Parts: sequence; C-alpha cells; structure tokens
Amino acid sequence: MRTAVVLLTRDLRVHDNPALAAACANAERVVPLFVLDPRLGELSPNRNRFLHQSLADLRTSLRALGGDLVLRQGDPVAETIKLAREVSAEGIAVAEDVSTYARRREQRLREECERHRISLRLFTSVTVVAPGELRPAGGSSYKVFSPYYRTWEMAKWRDEVAPPERITLPEGITAGRMPAIPSGESTAALDGGETEGRRRLDTWLRHLGPYDELHNDMPADGTSRLSAYLRFGCLSPLAVANAARAQDGEGPAAFVRQLSWRDFYYQVTNVFPKISTQPIRAAGDTSWRGDEDALQHWKDGLTGVPVVDAGMRQMLAEGWMHNRARLITASFLTKHLGLDWRDGVKWFFRWLNDGDVANNSGNWQWVAGTGNDTKPYRRFNPIRQAERFDPDGEYVRQYVPELRSIPGKAVHQPWRLPDTVRSGLDYPGPLESHRDEAVWLRP
Ligand code: FAD
Repeated sequence: MRTAVVLLTRDLRVHDNPALAAACANAERVVPLFVLDPRLGELSPNRNRFLHQSLADLRTSLRALGGDLVLRQGDPVAETIKLAREVSAEGIAVAEDVSTYARRREQRLREECERHRISLRLFTSVTVVAPGELRPAGGSSYKVFSPYYRTWEMAKWRDEVAPPERITLPEGITAGRMPAIPSGESTAALDGGETEGRRRLDTWLRHLGPYDELHNDMPADGTSRLSAYLRFGCLSPLAVANAARAQDGEGPAAFVRQLSWRDFYYQVTNVFPKISTQPIRAAGDTSWRGDEDALQHWKDGLTGVPVVDAGMRQMLAEGWMHNRARLITASFLTKHLGLDWRDGVKWFFRWLNDGDVANNSGNWQWVAGTGNDTKPYRRFNPIRQAERFDPDGEYVRQYVPELRSIPGKAVHQPWRLPDTVRSGLDYPGPLESHRDEAVWLRP
C-alpha cells in the first residue's frame, strides 16, 4: 500500500499502537490524524485539557519519528474521508471502540470507505482483550465479573507491537495548527500525554507490591492513578497489564484483576450501548426521588457526611476520586438519598479525567443495583466505610478543611461532637431531607 491514514481516537500513543504500527508496516506513507470534534470539548473542560495535552505530546513524539500529528477540526468521518482522498490513501486504520458515539463513527466511516473504495481496518487497542471476543456459553456477554475474569486471564492476549521506527508523511500535507491548551476546572488535575503516562507507569511499577493491601486505604493513596492515561490511550492497557503480570505477588495480581474490570465493562457496553441512560437490570430501576436541593448538596460536597463530602471535593479539586470514595459517594446518592444514578453519571462524567461511558456508567449501575452486581440491594454505610478505610480521618481532613481541627476518627461524625465544638465548625449538619432515615447515623 502506498498511503494510509491512521485515525487516532482513544489511542494517543506511539508505543503499542496496533493501528499505527500496522499502517507503518504496510504503507510507504502514513498520515497520523486526529479530528477535533468541537461538540466533545464542551462535555468536560477537565478532559478537554487532558486531551489537548496528550495531543501536543503525541505531536512531539511523531515528529521525532519523522512524521507529525495531522490535526483537523469538524466531523471526524467527513474530515477523515476528505483527507484520505486528498492524499489518495488506499486504507484507513482505526481502533475499535464501544460507545454509541464511537460505533456511529465507525458505521459511517465504513459506509464512506465503501463508497470511496478505501479499505478500513479496525484494531484492538482500547482494551486488553477485544470487547466481543470472550463470550459465555450461550450468551453474548458476561454479566458477572468473576467468570469473566477467569476467562480473560486465561485468554491468549495479542502481542505487543513496537513503536514505528520511522514515519513518512505524504508530500505537501499541512499538519494543522495545534490549538492552545484549554483550562480545566480542577486545579490539581494530572497532566495528560504518553510521556507523562509512561513516566508514571515506570514509577508505579516500582510501588506495585503492596497494592492488594493498600488499594482501599483512602489516605494511603496506594493506587496507580493511571486511569486517565488508559482512558485516552496514552498508555496501552495491554502493555500495562503485561508489565504488572511480569511481577510476582499478590499486589501485581490484584492490580491486573482491576484492569480486567475495565475490560469487563467494555464488553458489557459492547452489547448494551445505552448503558449511560438505561438500566441493565430494569427491576432495580425503581422510583428515584426528585430532590434538586439534595442533589446540589451532594454535587458541592456539602451533604454534612464528611467522607461523602471529602470524596466529592477530591473530584472537584483533582479531576479524580479514589475508587473507595467513588463507591461511597455513589451509594450515598442512590441508596441513601434515593436519587437517580443517571444524575451521578452526568456529574462524574463532567469532572473525571478518566470519565468514560463504559466504566463510569457500568460502575454507577453496579452501585445503584441496576447493573452487574450480584448483590444489587447492598448499600454501603458511609460511617462504617469511613471508619474502616480512613480509620484516623486523615482523608477527610485533607479534603474538608472545615474539619481539620477535629482529631482522629471523631471527624467522621461531627454531629456527635459536644455542642460547644460543633457550633464552632463552619460545616453543615447532615442533609435535612435525609435526616429521618438515620440508618447511617447509628454507631
Ligand atoms: P487502580 O486501582 O490503580 O486500578 C488500575 C486500573 O484498573 C484503573 O486505572 C482502571 O483503568 C482499572 N479499574 C480499577 N477499578 C476499576 C473498576 N471498578 N472498574 C473499571 N475499571 C477499573 N474508572 C474509569 O476508568 N473511568 C470512570 O469513568 C470510572 N467511573 C467510576 C464511577 C464509579 C461510581 C465507581 C464506583 C468507579 C468508577 N471507576 C471508573 C472505576 C475506578 O474507580 C477507577 O478506575 C479508579 O479509581 C482509577 O484510579 P487508579 O487508576 O488509581 O486505579
């Protein structure tokens, strides 16, 4: 093949990028292309910032290989086809993805490629194992994680591919101006890009040992924080899983298992693309309350339940929240306040740098009892969770400065403090709308 276009989407890297590697192996000239769809930037300023940082970094890497990142703005399908015709490309390569947006793009791209006699090749790149590859006997996808995990672990994973040695662009192509990096909303968010992701992965691989003991410990901050790099494909999930698997011990094994949860929700979304708006298990989707005031308090981290507020405020500040806090805050919204999980999906989706359709919605449905939890009626008692996973109250004091003067685990229940202390705190009492239920107020 003389010329190929690689439409980069959520695979913003040169290492282990199957679409890029195949194009470079099979074509003399290759156009690495990213199309900025103006509609998507509005969804989340945080992710828009992370995306632009990742694109700038990718351009630098591609230039070092003799190529460039060609940028266009507009509808991804129209722009890709337009460019492919300009450079007389015979083939287009793209990573396979599962969201409704990505599938529509793929479907339209397929139709346009047929119309213009351009070959289209899809590659597994966004997950370790392709979303449709593993199926239970007689079913289209796994509904329960454990059997999925056993199959996933035993499956033959594809081979990692090396970065291209050299990229040659077609002559005369204009690369397009890189837009200025927009500001995000969270001031303490991580920076995007493959270079930063690889640096963090290297460091993480040296600290992975105690992951199984520390990953639920909120103040220990003992998780990788690689999720946003995986979400944008700055890191290859396969390469991360292989690197962890190469280490012995419980920590690396537990970490690889978490990566499998990520693939699990992709294969759920693959057969249930409306995962962000429709319940997987309709029976669990009963009469959510409408209470704008309670919802706003939850969003602002002002529910009066310290561990919930700490989690919500961590997300606003960092564009990331500890997994244990995500479980507690999501359970609090749905199972305690009785509010609709779809409101939680939207709010998390606005703030999280790792926010994606499959993992955000899949996890929300799991917590709300409408999804893939085998115990859909479970609910986390936030006080017990706080005392177990933040036993000295450090996590709460870090993110709820109004409570910094309260020592030890007393910080988890400010309503139990003596009146003289409580009246001096600039911190709300537990939400009025919920006070009657009081299940979580019990010691
Ligand atoms: P680590 O503990 O280091 O785990 C390594 C990787 O495994 C993560 O980066 C992630 O890719 C994957 N992973 C870990 N736990 C899960 C899980 N439960 N489900 C799926 N993948 C997992 N994760 C997202 O990537 N995007 C989301 O939008 C998202 N929304 C969530 C919403 C709720 C309500 C809940 C309960 C969880 C959500 N998660 C989401 C899962 C999990 O909280 C994050 O992946 C994790 O906190 C990211 O931090 P880390 O990279 O330090 O994770």
